[in-house]
Parts: sequence; structure tokens; C-alpha cells
Amino acid sequence: MKSPIIHLTGVHKYYGDYHALRGIDLDIAEGEFFSLLGPSGCGKTTLLRTIAGFEDVSDGTLLLDGKDMEGVAPNRRPTNMVFQSYAIFPHLSVAQNVGFGLRRSSMSKEAKARAVGEALEMVGLGGYGNRAAHALSGGQRQRVALARALILKPRVLLLDEPLSALDKKLREQMQNELRRLQRQVGITFILVTHDQEEALIMSDRIAVMFEGEIAQLADPQTLYRRPATRRVAEFIGMMTFLPATVRGQEVEVAGLGRAEVEAEQCPGGLSDGDAHAGIRPELLSILFPGEETTRRVAEGVVEELTYYGDMTYYDVRLEGCERPVTISMKNMPGRPVLERGAPARVAWDARSLVIFG
Ligand code: ATP
Repeated sequence: MKSPIIHLTGVHKYYGDYHALRGIDLDIAEGEFFSLLGPSGCGKTTLLRTIAGFEDVSDGTLLLDGKDMEGVAPNRRPTNMVFQSYAIFPHLSVAQNVGFGLRRSSMSKEAKARAVGEALEMVGLGGYGNRAAHALSGGQRQRVALARALILKPRVLLLDEPLSALDKKLREQMQNELRRLQRQVGITFILVTHDQEEALIMSDRIAVMFEGEIAQLADPQTLYRRPATRRVAEFIGMMTFLPATVRGQEVEVAGLGRAEVEAEQCPGGLSDGDAHAGIRPELLSILFPGEETTRRVAEGVVEELTYYGDMTYYDVRLEGCERPVTISMKNMPGRPVLERGAPARVAWDARSLVIFG
């Protein structure tokens, strides 16, 4: 990694007796799109606010761009924050909102106007400068908030759930735009989100947090394919866990059968005895009548299904297993959607399993 723009060692945060951050060690590189992901109350906003300087560090060290930030006020840090609420001034115009942070700068009026115009272009609001801020839609307000933060040219942009107030379609559009914008400006973005899909789509790396600690820090693919713990696996995407028994390198999985597994499939190590085998819905498939496969096959019955148009999710109860496995199948012409109670031959591979002891 290049020398980190953000470097935290052993950072703790207490609110009175409440231990909100419990020893955070974290390096974030210049130019990264980094996400803090976790359920409500895990401490991700606290961590972001600590980096911004709105909260002090109770214990540990926070360096920004190599400098210790203890006692450094938020406006003296190389960071800027975009809030969930956007914090737009409704009585000002769009241009006045965007230029707000420059009001005390020594730039000429023309240079300020040019900077405002460029920032608005950057977020796709070129020509909106004279509009009243109160008349903007949610998505447009979000863009104004971004332009206002970017005009100050921070080294790090901190984003606290910036898209959570938008409806699904607009949120997806803004996810793409934020990603594009980050690549264009090249500065470090740190996004707080509780939406795992959002984090996977947007980030170079993600820190998954539970109860004030980082449970796993990895790129999206590693996080999804090789979750470090069962809790991370449950939080990121869908995974079915089947009871399993380990002996040596061999795992006997209820409903599926015996499989040899590699060390990298066992994040906590492999020890003899009871375990759980995790499997993602898209790594199993249901064979249609007459379909051949070189994969291994288990027999079951469709217990439940959910039709999504492009996909169908099946819950299949495999022979010899109490709990159903979830299987996602692309809907294709000539492949009828199976009904409840239909027999299902399920194809699987040993290398698709993740074993948790
Ligand atoms: P959310 O997504 O709900 O905002 P989060 O992961 O961002 O959750 P934080 O806002 O960082 O969580 O809060 C972490 C914990 O610290 C919570 O239990 C919260 O109640 C507590 N907390 C946060 N701010 C304060 C404060 N100013 N005083 C006391 N406790 C606080």
C-alpha cells in the first residue's frame, strides 16, 4: 500500500462508560474508496466523526497525512464531511450553498464563481447555480452537498450514509455517480453505510464492523467469497449454513455429502468435530430434467420459492438435512419455474463451501 493518508492505531472511544470503539487499527491509502460497513450501533459513524475531529480519541493515535490529529479542530484537518441530512441552507441559492466554504477565502469573486461552476459541473448540476436550494429534489440536494464539500479540495471526503434518504432507483444512480466522481477527482472517499450491497458496489476496500471492532477488512470479492467469520458471512449477502462434521481435511455436510476442502475454505482453521458449511445461493444449481453435469448431485424437494422476474430463489430441502438450502437460478426461456413440492436435483462443488468451526 502507498503511504496511508489515514493511520489509526489502537483507537478507543468512550461515551461515559459506553465503549463505542474498541481498539481500531486501520490504514487507508490515498485515493481509495473505502467503506465502513456494519449494523446500526456498531460504531461506524463514531469512527467517521473521530476522523473528522467532531469526536476526540479516548485512547490511541490518529494520523492524517502523517500528522497527529490530537487537539486539531475539524476545520484544520484535511477532511470534509457530507452529512446524511445534506445540511443545505434552504434560503440560499445553489451557487451560494456550494460557495459557502469559500466565503472567507482570499480568492477573487471571479475565481470563486469559476470554482462554483466547476464543482457544479462535476456533480452534474451545471447551470443550476441560480436555483433556490429549497426547490431541489433529494438527489439534487445530495449533489449540492457533494459540490460544496469538493470545492474545498479536501484530501479525504467523509460521507455519512449520504444516499440513505433517496429512493432505490435514485440511490443506485447516485452510487454509480459517486464512484465515477471519486475516480475523477482521485481523493480518498470514506463512506459509512449499513447497506452491504452499496459497499460491495462502490468500494475498493471495506471494513466490516460489529460492536466497536473491525471484524474483517478486505476488498469486496474477498469479503464475499471468503468471509472471515460466520457473522460476516451472514451480514454480507445470503448464505445457508448446513450442519457438518469435520475429520481431517474431509467434511461431511448434511444433505450434500462428503467433500475434501482446502485450508483457504476454512477461515477459522479446521479442527475435527462439529462445524457448519456455508454456501451462497448462486453456487448451487437445480438441474432440469435430463440435464447432465460433472458436478456432484444431491436430491431434494422444492419447499418454497420466490420469483423476482430475472431470478427465482428456491428453498430446497435436501434428503437427510433438516433445514432447507437457498438456491438462486436465472430464469431462462425453456426453463420452467419449478413449483412447490417438485423434486430437485441439486448440483454443487466442494470448493463452493466455506467451513466455520
Ligand atoms: P447507525 O447506523 O445507527 O448510525 P453506527 O454504527 O453509526 O449506527 P454510532 O452512531 O457510531 O453507530 O454509535 C455507536 C454507539 O455509540 C451506539 O450505541 C450509540 O448509541 C453510541 N453513541 C453514539 N454517539 C453517542 C454520544 N454522543 N453519547 C453517547 N453514546 C453515543
